[in-house]
Amino acid sequence: MRALPDAQRTIAELKELRSFTADENGAQRVAFTRKWVETRAWLRRKLDALPVEIHTDAAGNLWATLHGESDKELIIGGHMDSVPNGGWLDGCLNVLAGLEILRRIHSQYADKPPVTVRLVDWADEEGARFGKSLFGSSACSGNLDLNEARGLVDRDGIHLPEALREVGIDFERVKESGQELKHAAAYLELHIEQGPVLLDLDLPLGAVLGTFGVERHAITFHGQAAHSGSTPMNRRKDAFLAAAKMSPEIYRIAERSHGGVCTIGSCTTKPGIVTSVVEECRITLDQRHLDGPALAKMFQEAKSASETFAREGNVQVSWERLWQIDPRPFHDELIAMCDEAIRETCGKSHRLPSGPLHDAAEVARAGVPAVMMFVQSLHGISHNKIEDTREEHLELCVRAFDKLAEMTMRWIKAKG
Ligand SMILES: [Zn+2]
Repeated sequence: MRALPDAQRTIAELKELRSFTADENGAQRVAFTRKWVETRAWLRRKLDALPVEIHTDAAGNLWATLHGESDKELIIGGHMDSVPNGGWLDGCLNVLAGLEILRRIHSQYADKPPVTVRLVDWADEEGARFGKSLFGSSACSGNLDLNEARGLVDRDGIHLPEALREVGIDFERVKESGQELKHAAAYLELHIEQGPVLLDLDLPLGAVLGTFGVERHAITFHGQAAHSGSTPMNRRKDAFLAAAKMSPEIYRIAERSHGGVCTIGSCTTKPGIVTSVVEECRITLDQRHLDGPALAKMFQEAKSASETFAREGNVQVSWERLWQIDPRPFHDELIAMCDEAIRETCGKSHRLPSGPLHDAAEVARAGVPAVMMFVQSLHGISHNKIEDTREEHLELCVRAFDKLAEMTMRWIKAKG
């Protein structure tokens, strides 16, 4: 008979963690700090009650392994680190639900589950201190840019390699952590949604299709400064006018894209004085979509719209790419199983993309079949002390995620 996870214990452990790692402003488990080291020691004590092998890899990721009949591995991941003043669920819900699932699997199969099951606590998912997220998982997937990371500096002028040395990690060897994925057959991650989609649908859980690709650009319109009193309206080369037309346009572009989002996040003008027509206007545009060709189309449409508005206003336009990342779709069969586990647990499921990046995207990028499950976020808000999820939804997510873990073990075994 199938054993069940004790979801109440997970909720109690989340509260226990909050009691010694949060203050009146929220969670304070920033990676590589003393609080984070304490958090890890607490997690290790919990893991010690199980017959698991525990070690930290070359990038500082913590692994707990329950060996099974097969060397093929089901990996469950999350991150104990938080942003400063963070929420009580982001990252640690994933790890503590994973811990509960390890307990359930151990109690059901004694010491031999059908496949090997591992729990990983990724190091520095948030990138709060050095401004670069997914450190541990991108080192492990092999995608971390060592030259870029070597130069990262925190607010106190401390370089990343130096901060890592403090916690016993040799920066030059972090990519050796890649060997941890040698036997990986599937990767699962539970996470609080961090957005309002499930809240608006009044659904507790959703299956995640993948993480958005991103095109991020600066667009600069170049016109001519001129006196605001003496220049007739029809003689102006107004850089702001052309830029302003982009604002309603990106809403039309997003709507046509079916599922994409576009944001103009900043706008600066020169000379920026009240008595001059704008000579130069720089806006930033962030575009995201789960589908690569759809994202490319959104980008092209924005570009040609900017050229049209520049022509109409007799100004010039130039584009500069600030950042780009491809969409990372999750594994079709795992998405279907995630959907099924949710439906079996609470009747109804929903498939949705993830706007934020997650460690699961790095694991997927390394070629490991991966999927995520989202649980509803009460205010649709994360990275904030008000982040919250109803307790009955927390209970449902542990049960559904456990079901997904069981289905995935069987899926791995059946593939031989
Ligand atoms: Zn997170």
